[in-house]
Amino acid sequence: MKILFLGPPGAGKGTQAARVAEHLGLAHVSTGDMFRALSAETDLGRRVLAIMTSGELVPDHITIEMLESRISQPDAASGYILDGFPRTRAQAEALDAFLGDGALDHVVVLEVPDDELVARLMARGRADDTEDSVRVRLGVYARDTAPLIAHYEPRGIIRRVNGVGAIELISEAIIAAIEGGG
Ligand code: AMP
Repeated sequence: MKILFLGPPGAGKGTQAARVAEHLGLAHVSTGDMFRALSAETDLGRRVLAIMTSGELVPDHITIEMLESRISQPDAASGYILDGFPRTRAQAEALDAFLGDGALDHVVVLEVPDDELVARLMARGRADDTEDSVRVRLGVYARDTAPLIAHYEPRGIIRRVNGVGAIELISEAIIAAIEGGG
C-alpha cells in the first residue's frame, strides 16, 4: 500500500501521517524530517537548512534522489505513507516514473482553512516557522503543490478529509476514507 498525504503547511500532515502509518503498519516517509536530520556540519546540510529557514523548496534533484533511496529501504517494501513529497510537478513525475506499475493507492488531501493554518503555524514554534517563512511556504504550496491535486484527480485516488477537529477523529476519518476507497 502506497499512500500520499497532500495539504498545506500546518494542515497536520506530519501528525496524521505518523498516526495512520502506525495504525496501518506502514513506513512513515517525511522529506521534511529527513532534511531536518541533516547535519549542519556538512555543506549539503548547511545549504538545505538555509533553504528550509527561508520557506522555499529544496531543489528537486536533491529531494528526488533522497526520497528514492529512502523508499528503496527494506522497511518500505510492504508500503509507506509519503508526507511532504511530492511538492512539485517534477517530483510527481519522477515518482510516477520510479513507481511504474506499482503506483499510488490513495492521495489523502487534508483540508484546513487559510486563517486556521496561519494560526497553527505561528503557534507550533518550529525553527523554520517565522512569520516570513510561513508566508513564503503558504505561497509555495499554492503555486507548486496544490496543482498536484489535479495531477492525481483523473486516477480517482483523491480522498479529501476535513483537517479541523480532534486529532483522533481526523485520524479515524482518514482511515475510513482509505479503507472505504473514497
Ligand atoms: P515539512 O516538514 O514537510 O513542512 O518540510 C519543511 C521544509 O523542508 C519545507 O519548507 C522545504 O523547505 C523542505 N522540504 C520538505 N519536503 C520537500 C520537498 N518534497 N521538496 C522540496 N523541499 C522540501
